[in-house]
Amino acid sequence: MLSTRFKTPLAPLAVTTAFPVIEESSVRTSLAGDISVCSQCRLCVDLCDVFPSIFDTLDGVTDADPHLLTPNQQNIFSDSCFHCGACIQRCPHRGPDSEHEVDLPTTFIDLMQVRQLNGYFTVRQRITNWVLSAHDLTGPIASPCATFVNWLMQRPDTLRRRLVTAVTGISSSAQIPRISGQRFSTWLRRQPMAVASNRPQVSVFPTCSVEYFSNDAAQSVIGHLASEGRPCELATTRCCGAEELRAGRVRAFRKRVRRLTKLLGKESSKGPIMVMSPSCLAHLRTNLAPHCDPGLRPNAEMIVDRLRSPIEVLTESTSAGTSRSSGTSDSRRSLLFLPSPHEDPSERTAIEHTVTSETAVQVIADAGMHMGTWALRQGNEEGAHRTVQRMAKRLPTPADAPRTVARSGLLSSQLLAHETGDDIVDPVTLLLSASSDEQ
Ligand code: SF4
Ligand code: SF4
Ligand code: SF4
Repeated sequence: MLSTRFKTPLAPLAVTTAFPVIEESSVRTSLAGDISVCSQCRLCVDLCDVFPSIFDTLDGVTDADPHLLTPNQQNIFSDSCFHCGACIQRCPHRGPDSEHEVDLPTTFIDLMQVRQLNGYFTVRQRITNWVLSAHDLTGPIASPCATFVNWLMQRPDTLRRRLVTAVTGISSSAQIPRISGQRFSTWLRRQPMAVASNRPQVSVFPTCSVEYFSNDAAQSVIGHLASEGRPCELATTRCCGAEELRAGRVRAFRKRVRRLTKLLGKESSKGPIMVMSPSCLAHLRTNLAPHCDPGLRPNAEMIVDRLRSPIEVLTESTSAGTSRSSGTSDSRRSLLFLPSPHEDPSERTAIEHTVTSETAVQVIADAGMHMGTWALRQGNEEGAHRTVQRMAKRLPTPADAPRTVARSGLLSSQLLAHETGDDIVDPVTLLLSASSDEQ
């Protein structure tokens, strides 16, 4: 079976928005073309439920022809993708030398956009899509009521969770991270900041996973930068919009891009913009400029040039991560580092060079997949669980040494910890503790 998609741009359909909208038939043909290539390869069939589901469905289609898949079958594939990006990293049909350009997650976003704009979603689906992607509204409401929200959401499979499911479409069995009673930005504003030095100021973009949920590692990064005399300022508390894009709310996302471009591109700011979550960083690097109004695109590209992960900021300009610690432990430990699919190679190098010499570092590829809030959607719970079980199976159990698991990603790390019983350490915490051991 041969792909029909050979880097052919999708046909745009001019509508009343400032941007062309993708035509439905182009998206569906493109998805079928991608699947044609996939069925020849199956290299990423063990990552998530999407590919097994595709190939099982094709078994029931004449000549296993992806172009004969129904729109409903395509929608089911799209709905079960968490948009983690792992398959793109594994796919051989990528890059300038490739004849094909297979990118199922991006085609799924196009499909969601088409379904949204054509009014194919039911009212209930629209509510769910909105709840799972409107963090700028739900976060500020939930944070001051953290005690109540945590009571409501922390225990799966209770009557109250089933009521929440009935209203919002958030799965009643999903594990939900604890909301923090104090927003990260509130904490940050109260910190004594280093006085401006000749070093460029770091603009901090917390992203929702730090702003509303967990902020220990982020606070440590700020503390370390302050101790190095590096001034920090809050860039914005807004969401990066990845979930909006995932839910097909492309118009809302483009409005957000306009706002973010103005907020992050202030004339006075020339230093790095530190994006605290790796998946948000990858999303902004990929989507900010392409979704920007043409007139603002040069500004968006300059912003993208300044985007950094916390590890990049720490290793670029501070003592953290510059040397391998001699270590203090007397027994050999095993560190399993699970890089995210969006990981910058500098992060892997930093981790390998900063852990103690008594620690054996093993990099476990493809077990660092991230899941956004789409994994919390009713109907995705079993797929999310199976995906986490597959990640857990990739973790070796060292016979002679206790293991530490290091990975980022709030929701997927919590799910993995629940599955394996491991305490999962944020890689940035590892880097900072190695650096403090040195001093
Ligand atoms: S690796 Fe690429 S071509 Fe192979 S199944 Fe995955 S997406 Fe398809
Ligand atoms: S869940 Fe991840 S690996 Fe699976 S199709 Fe979506 S982006 Fe690819
Ligand atoms: S992708 Fe990041 S900023 Fe966007 S909703 Fe998720 S955590 Fe928030």
